[in-house]
Amino acid sequence: MALKTKEEYIESLKRMKKRIFLLGEEVQNYVDHPIIRPSINACAMTYELAQQSEYEELLTVQSSLTGKKINRFTHLHQSTDDLIKKVKMQRLLGHKTGCCFQRCVGFDGFNAVDSVTYEMDKHYGTDYNKRFRAYLEYIQENDLVVDGAMTDTKGDRKLSPSSQKDPDQFVHVVERKPNGIVVRGAKAHQTGAVNSHEILVMPTQTMREADKEYALCFAVPADANGIFYVYGRQSCDTRRLEEGTIDVGNANFGGQEALIVFDDVFVPWERVFMCGEYQYSGLLVERFAGYHRQSYGGCKSGVGDVLIGAAHAISKIQGVEKATHVKDKLIEMTHLNETIYACGVACSAEGKPTPSGTYLIDLLLANVCKLHVTHLPYLIARLAQDIAEGLLVTLPGEQDFKNPEIGKYLEKYFRSATEYSTEERCRMQRLIENLTLGMGAVGYLTESLHGAGSPQAQKIMIGRLANFDYKAEQAEKLAGIKKD
Ligand code: SF4
Ligand code: FE
Repeated sequence: MALKTKEEYIESLKRMKKRIFLLGEEVQNYVDHPIIRPSINACAMTYELAQQSEYEELLTVQSSLTGKKINRFTHLHQSTDDLIKKVKMQRLLGHKTGCCFQRCVGFDGFNAVDSVTYEMDKHYGTDYNKRFRAYLEYIQENDLVVDGAMTDTKGDRKLSPSSQKDPDQFVHVVERKPNGIVVRGAKAHQTGAVNSHEILVMPTQTMREADKEYALCFAVPADANGIFYVYGRQSCDTRRLEEGTIDVGNANFGGQEALIVFDDVFVPWERVFMCGEYQYSGLLVERFAGYHRQSYGGCKSGVGDVLIGAAHAISKIQGVEKATHVKDKLIEMTHLNETIYACGVACSAEGKPTPSGTYLIDLLLANVCKLHVTHLPYLIARLAQDIAEGLLVTLPGEQDFKNPEIGKYLEKYFRSATEYSTEERCRMQRLIENLTLGMGAVGYLTESLHGAGSPQAQKIMIGRLANFDYKAEQAEKLAGIKKD
């Protein structure tokens, strides 16, 4: 079986024995939990679209490992065309879900781990790449979702992993056995962790010799012994527990982040892809971050399209679509959104093969892409809120509209353009609220700021890759300071 259906994916999650805590309680049936299910639906869209012929070229691809047809989310990029298709696929999924669909983190992890283990093996004579590719074949063959887990809790930020008072603030080896290792620690802000079949752990930063036990890369089943999850709260999340769907804004879909705790988890050697080779930890972080910074050029522009569409729709519902300033704002939103997408495509088109054959994006352009993503969605969201008007934050709740005494008054006083119903107005306002203030804003705004590294991380990379000396040399030649 190389491609699962959406239903098979959801069924496969039901068979897993994960320990998940949410709102202070252990969740028994997480697949049907009203707060969690929309995030499963979003991830399931990566399966659903792969079954549809019109999206086959974007969502599926021939495996470079087995030659079989696989879901693109499990693929190693073999060309710049693959890299560009990834971004287009992510934009499409942004349209279909209006949120984070969570499957890209593992995808970006595969591509980074593949090239880095290949180069490590050449250096040390190890066989990590062979192990990793055998693991990836298993992922491809079973069409699995893998959480790429990078961010450690980090404790006191001014201290290195090995100098922390609490040694568990970074995931580390606590025991070496003949058949594997035992690990302890936690990974924070893990997108889609609860919806994953597997967790691919990577180091969170460049490690030095003293931090060798923290230079770790491995994979474990998401329900392995010793793992548990604490589900992150999102603004307005308990609206999903209320009756009705209008106030949620995006009733069927949502993102997800969780804390994963590894409480002495055993990992067999065949699933260990780095263990102590600290000199390669920085390269792995840099490549993973680069791929994920490219990803945002796709997913965030896709969700941006939905927000632009919602702003246009609410302008029609409220009868202001012909106002020139409204048109001007929609154009400005589009210009900002296409800038993000253009960067995603550009870093893909400028990609190059690594020694393993797996293609890597242009790192400078990927970092420029992500740095734009840290602020342009905020500008787009501001313009959407401007067009939506103040009702965005003063609209009464769905239950008020259903109240037999006051409902008819709300129906009357919140009616706007005659072609649209009051309910349509409420629904569109709530979608804009979701994307700019509610659960959707987690993925569209705050995650745009901090996901794949906060802005300072991109600035450091841009500073390293900018090649200022070459540029100065060109200027010096033109200014007559330096001769050819
Ligand atoms: Fe994919 Fe975007 Fe979600 Fe990251 S934030 S997992 S790139 S959809
Ligand atoms: Fe993310």
